[in-house]
Amino acid sequence: MERLDFEQGPIRPPSEAGSLLIRLTRNCPWNRCLFCPVYKDEKFSRRSVAQIKADINAIAEAVERIKSIGSPGGLPGRITRQTVAGVQSEYPELLQIAYWLYGGGKNVFLQDGDSLLLPLKDLLDILSFLKEKLPSIDRITTYARSKTLLRFSQPDMELLRDHGLSRVHVGLESGCDKVLDFMKKGVVGEQHVEAGSRVKAAGLSLSFYVILGLGGLPLWREHALDTAKVVNQVNPDFIRMRTLAIHPASPLYQHSLIGDFIPLSDDQVIREELLFIESLEGIESYFVSDHILNLLEEVEGQLPVAKELMLGIIRRYLNWPAEKREIFRLGRRTGYFRYLNDIEHKELAQPVEKYYTQLQSQNITIDEQIRQLMLRFI
Ligand code: SF4
Repeated sequence: MERLDFEQGPIRPPSEAGSLLIRLTRNCPWNRCLFCPVYKDEKFSRRSVAQIKADINAIAEAVERIKSIGSPGGLPGRITRQTVAGVQSEYPELLQIAYWLYGGGKNVFLQDGDSLLLPLKDLLDILSFLKEKLPSIDRITTYARSKTLLRFSQPDMELLRDHGLSRVHVGLESGCDKVLDFMKKGVVGEQHVEAGSRVKAAGLSLSFYVILGLGGLPLWREHALDTAKVVNQVNPDFIRMRTLAIHPASPLYQHSLIGDFIPLSDDQVIREELLFIESLEGIESYFVSDHILNLLEEVEGQLPVAKELMLGIIRRYLNWPAEKREIFRLGRRTGYFRYLNDIEHKELAQPVEKYYTQLQSQNITIDEQIRQLMLRFI
């Protein structure tokens, strides 16, 4: 077999970690959001339908090759751990596809930042081709900007759904127009509402990404309340939380240096999250904190039933004494803690407490140390 050759972009949502990545476009057509360090020096381009189909053909060929290895002693075509081990030693370039098949071969994510910018007829052609060549697929998802989604009428979106598109991940970031304007998101809250509502009405699944801390100190309250207002109007299937960390390569970094943007501390972010969740009403979204930058990963659950539970987790943290909160933050950012209860486990807490004492003796502030630690994750 010739070398497997297909293109992949740099990012995908955490929830698509096990998905096959098919690149439709390169980079981001907007590329202006102040908080975003991705793609900054990269130009946006659309890949041709022929290039994308060549990738899909290469992957389909790889799938057949992997299936032909099968599982020694197992059913023909069945992908097991042994199959993956066989691929690793014989065709290491196919390993990613082998893992995808081992996971069921069901999910695909279309890259990069705004793939629905391709003409509708090309998108339909690609979706059909993908399902024809890789029939095990049953979920196809993509990122899309709200502005891009507004190009599609309701029937257009239904066509995308009928051709296999299942879910759209939208960077809502905020529902507050002042925050969106400052961050140069290129969209206002009303457009988020319209785009999201159309996605939902077309029967597509919708993930909204919200960035905690994006309003900075002066706008934290408006950010929380207005974002909740937008989310409440749309009722997305998923609300996925991120916490702002200012990457030195993002334009926001310069703004923060000159005091144009005042970031929130961890505890202020958590108060903002509390207000945001308190303000969510009448929706049935699944709330997810599945990003390493979020301090309280366990704030997760199905709304509305889990709302009080999630608020309880946040209040428990906020009611802790300041030193305990600092130790938890340090433990979370150094990877010792995931959940609030972890701080009660001696073997986890001891190294963190030691580190905490060390920082204090060196006069290093916890906030500064945590800012540095968070940079590792962006
Ligand atoms: S639209 Fe997304 S990828 Fe593009 S600049 Fe904004 S955050 Fe970054």
